[in-house]
Amino acid sequence: MRHFAIVGSGPAGFYTAEALEKAYGGQARIDILDRYPVPYGLIRFGVAPDHQSLKAVSKRYDKVAESAGVNFIGNVSVGRDVSVGELLDLYDAVILAIGAPHDRKLGIPGEDLPGVVGSAAFVGWYNGHPDFADLDPPLGGTHAAVIGNGNVALDCARILSKTQHEFEGSDIVGHALEALDRSAIRTITILGRRGPHQIAMTPKELGELGHLEATSPVVDASDFPPLEGDGSLEPGQRKSVTILREFAATPPDPARPKRMVFDFFAKPLAIEGAGKAEKIIVERTELDEKGAARGTGETYEVPASLIVSCIGYSTPPIEGVAYDERGGKFLNEGGRIADRLYAVGWARRGPTGTIGTNRPDGYEVADRIASEMPSGSAGNRPGAEGLKQLLESRGVMPTDYDDWRKIEETEVGRARPGSPREKFVRHEDWLGTLGR
Ligand SMILES: Cc1cc2nc3c(=O)[nH]c(=O)nc-3n(C[C@H](O)[C@H](O)[C@H](O)COP(=O)(O)OP(=O)(O)OC[C@H]3O[C@@H](n4cnc5c(N)ncnc54)[C@H](O)[C@@H]3O)c2cc1C
Repeated sequence: MRHFAIVGSGPAGFYTAEALEKAYGGQARIDILDRYPVPYGLIRFGVAPDHQSLKAVSKRYDKVAESAGVNFIGNVSVGRDVSVGELLDLYDAVILAIGAPHDRKLGIPGEDLPGVVGSAAFVGWYNGHPDFADLDPPLGGTHAAVIGNGNVALDCARILSKTQHEFEGSDIVGHALEALDRSAIRTITILGRRGPHQIAMTPKELGELGHLEATSPVVDASDFPPLEGDGSLEPGQRKSVTILREFAATPPDPARPKRMVFDFFAKPLAIEGAGKAEKIIVERTELDEKGAARGTGETYEVPASLIVSCIGYSTPPIEGVAYDERGGKFLNEGGRIADRLYAVGWARRGPTGTIGTNRPDGYEVADRIASEMPSGSAGNRPGAEGLKQLLESRGVMPTDYDDWRKIEETEVGRARPGSPREKFVRHEDWLGTLGR
């Protein structure tokens, strides 16, 4: 029997578990550890609450969690409660699937002013992440800005634009829904250093903006290169650019009081304000020969009392594990970090790709493990039994599958009919449900 520990219960962790189950049949015990008492990583804490159909992918992971060889072990933080070295002593292989939960810094003056938040924090706040339950983003001003030109920026801008009514059927947390309902924000500026051809926004997410109840998208037609240029774009990107062109050709709807303004060729230089964010100093850019943004020297101000930076994430280093500072991920070669130690998902590749991208990634690493430790070959490590003893000796109380289900059932039971699903947002609430 082989014993595997997967650290992290997001998509990458679950696809890897699924692949290991297939590769080893009944010959492996796979433990999926997570620092939270409930699983699914960014499916719970990242994917937008008004995109429930995407969150439904967790049903596939449920099946994996229910298979005989797989255990969920929650409420255990690797690096704090147990080290990677200790896991390597207990398991035949350890797979790090801890994602990339840290916001990358903007690296400009003023980014630490109150009112400037990273997307991990802002997204975590509306999705019920316990670390960000108290974020309390300032929504009292009329102007907000979102920095970045990817789907996460669109998520943040859309959430700021929606009415209470548009959140029906979502699982946005109550504190965010109430705060957004009181929000005074009327203009949300999305800043991107390059132009419409360089966006990393997908057509589905862009298309939604044309149907918002109280918000009109605003795009400046002069930002586009000549129409013929669209022909060389990859089909998905061409679709996205076509949607932006449609927005540019449509005057804002006077019946919708809010505006979502796409400000292309805009490089933030500094954030300024008296003790809190009030405006962004922006430099106009143009594309150089290689397609990179080059400053033109022309500057202007964008007013914003809430600024959400959506410029990417990094994986936190773990002691004793080789780390790629530049890439913000574990140093690995094809998923292998060191002997019997692997990385998958965002911790392996960096924060790019969709949920589905993590599937081939997890399968590739599982295949590699299976070729290095063929099914049927003996392992002599204790796995979960050893981990249980170690955690007990440290007073750590892990959650198991039944605990997680109890928490989720309690959450579902708390929902009022017609209102968004209620989620627990604090560790103590989760554990309180279990009588701890
Ligand atoms: C805001 C946002 C919105 C997104 N929306 C979409 C979308 O609409 N569609 C789409 O296809 N993709 C979307 N994505 C991308 C998708 O979420 C990722 O591709 C995917 O979640 C990455 O999976 P992962 O398993 O590598 O990381 P994660 O999902 O981050 O999972 C990592 C897990 O590791 C756990 N962990 C971290 N540190 C430790 C530790 N020290 N000890 C134990 N456990 C630990 C975490 O609690 C978490 O459960 C979105 C991403 C973000 C940030």
